[in-house]
Amino acid sequence: MAIPFIDLAAQQKIIRNKIDARIATVLDHGKYIMGPEINELETALSEFCGAKHSITCGSGTDALLLPLMAWNIQKGDAVFVPAFTFFATAEVVSLLGATPIFVDIDPDTFNIDPAKLEKAIEAVVSQDETIHPLPSIAKNQKLSPKAIIAVDLFGLPADYDSILPLAQKYNLKVLEDAAQGFGGEAHEKKACNIGCHAATTSFFPAKPLGCYGDGGAVFTNDDELADVIKSLRVHGKGKDKYDNIRIGLNARMDTMQAAILLPKLEIFDDELEKRQQVADWYETSVADVEELVAPKLPMGHKSAWAQYTVLCKDGEHRAAVQAKLKEAGVPTMIYYITPLPYLAVYNELGYVKGDFAVSEEYSERVLSLPMHPYLTEGSFRHEILDGVFE
Ligand SMILES: *Cc1c(COP(=O)(O)O)cnc(C)c1O
Repeated sequence: MAIPFIDLAAQQKIIRNKIDARIATVLDHGKYIMGPEINELETALSEFCGAKHSITCGSGTDALLLPLMAWNIQKGDAVFVPAFTFFATAEVVSLLGATPIFVDIDPDTFNIDPAKLEKAIEAVVSQDETIHPLPSIAKNQKLSPKAIIAVDLFGLPADYDSILPLAQKYNLKVLEDAAQGFGGEAHEKKACNIGCHAATTSFFPAKPLGCYGDGGAVFTNDDELADVIKSLRVHGKGKDKYDNIRIGLNARMDTMQAAILLPKLEIFDDELEKRQQVADWYETSVADVEELVAPKLPMGHKSAWAQYTVLCKDGEHRAAVQAKLKEAGVPTMIYYITPLPYLAVYNELGYVKGDFAVSEEYSERVLSLPMHPYLTEGSFRHEILDGVFE
C-alpha cells in the first residue's frame, strides 16, 4: 500500500464533526462574504502569531501583492527576492511592473543569503554587475531599491537577524513570505511576527495550515498599513465599497474557508509538534545514509516543516533514490526543478548559467520526502525507511 505525500484525510477524520458544524453555521447565517467567521479567524491568527493585525485574503499570492501595492511598488523599482522559491514570490513583483532582483540562497538553510543580498543592493545602486549578477534592465536604467521579500522556505524562517539590519541600512521594506513558514519560530518569535514590516502566509490545502480551497493572510503591527491593505482587499474602498479611493482588488477570503480554518487552527500547535517528531525520525535515519544530507536548523529556530527536503549527491543520484522510493510506494517531490531566473518568463532579464550557483546546484539535488503530522512511527520505519535507507 502506497503512503501519501501529505495526509489531509487523516487530519479531517479528527476534526470532521467540528468542520461539519462550522459549515452548517455558515449555511444557516448565509453571510458568505465577510461573515463573522472572518473576524473570528483574524483574531485567532493574531493570537497565534502575536501580530497586531491579521488580514485574511484570497490566496498567498494576493497576500504578497497587497503590501507591495500599499507600498506603491511600481515600474522602476527593484525588489530583492531569492532565486530558489515558488514562482509567486517574484510574480507579484513583475505583476506590479517592478523588477525582481534575484539573490542566491544560503547552502545551509535554502533561504536568501544575506551577504549576497547586500551585494545585490550595492550592485543595483551602483549599476555595477561585477558586484552581483543584474538583470539587463538594471544595467541600462537606474532602478530604485524598495523592498526585500524573504521566503521561509520549506518552513524555516529566513535569517532575519541579518536581513532586518540590512533593510534599515538601505531603507528598504521587508516582507516575510511565510506561505510555507506559518508555525515556524526564530528566537521565540513566531513566523509572521518576527519584526518585518509585513508578513504573509498561504492557506493552500497542502501548506502547513491549509483550508479547502485558496486562502491567505497578511500580518503587520503597522496600523496605517493595515488600514490601506483592508481597503485594497475590497476594491480600494473608503467609507464603504462604493466609495473607492484607490485602485484595489477583490481579494477577500470566503467565509466558508475561514469556517474550515478555525477548527484546523485549534489543532495546529499539536500538529507542529508531530511534524517536528517526524523530522527527528528522518534526521536520525538520513544521518545513516552517507550520500544524503538532512536539513539543519540554525540556533534558536524552529521549522514548520512544510517540506522535509534532503540533498542528494547529484542529479543522477537523485533519480536513483527517487526511483527506489517510488518502487517501494513512497512518493517524493522536487521543489524546485528550475531556479526562478531561468524560467522562460524571465528570459528577458538575461541571466546566464552560473549566476546563481547554489540555486542551480540545489535544483538538481533536492528531494522532498513525505511529511505530515499523521505519519506514524510504524509506517515511517516500515514503509519509508525500508524503501530508501536499507
Ligand atoms: C504557496 C506559496 C505562495 C503562494 O500561495 P498561494 O496561496 O498558492 O497563492 C507564495 N510563496 C511561496 C513561497 C509559496 O510556497
